[in-house]
Amino acid sequence: MSKGRLFAVSGPSGVGKGTIVEKLLPLCPGLELSVSATTRQPRVGEKNGVHYFFITCEEFNKMIEEDGFLEYDVHFKNFYGTPKKFVFDRLNEGKDILLEIDVNGALKVKENCPQAVLIFIMPPSVEELRYRLLHRNTEALEKIEERIARLDKEVLLKDKYDYTVVNDDLDTAVAAVLKIVKGE
Ligand code: 5GP
Repeated sequence: MSKGRLFAVSGPSGVGKGTIVEKLLPLCPGLELSVSATTRQPRVGEKNGVHYFFITCEEFNKMIEEDGFLEYDVHFKNFYGTPKKFVFDRLNEGKDILLEIDVNGALKVKENCPQAVLIFIMPPSVEELRYRLLHRNTEALEKIEERIARLDKEVLLKDKYDYTVVNDDLDTAVAAVLKIVKGE
């Protein structure tokens, strides 16, 4: 058993999990955000080792062969994975680690780490999330349609999670996640 606790905040794309995590971290000084590895190019302002570990496809494949990921997946033709060593080193040091991760990734983490605490962030309604995705205007229509297509399936997976939090009001949702983390 590791000394720290592993948490995963997950939910459908556009549900606001990134914003919840951003607000949660300053309220939980002992909680550290995991840094994933990816083969995608850094965006302007992104730093290696802070936002992601930016690695090549060869390096990613080598890590897969060496069983170096707690889970990994492909999004929009790029690979993303949670490095086992990064997470386990910190858990063994007694640090608590938070993953902000997609729905399938979180379930794979639970398979590999049954003691992980999974928190599912729900939209107030699926219709509301569809509306948000269509109106946030940050992505190509093709990507939005891909995300909407995944939505119904993802919401059905919420029963496999330890906790569900509805993100209707942001501060209320942050307070609910904080209560779960402190309780655990
Ligand atoms: P972006 O390229 O916009 O930073 O992320 C694209 C997608 O990859 C997002 O849905 C994000 O949640 C997902 N992602 C980021 N890191 C990981 C990871 O370690 N594992 C998995 N499965 N997905 C990830």
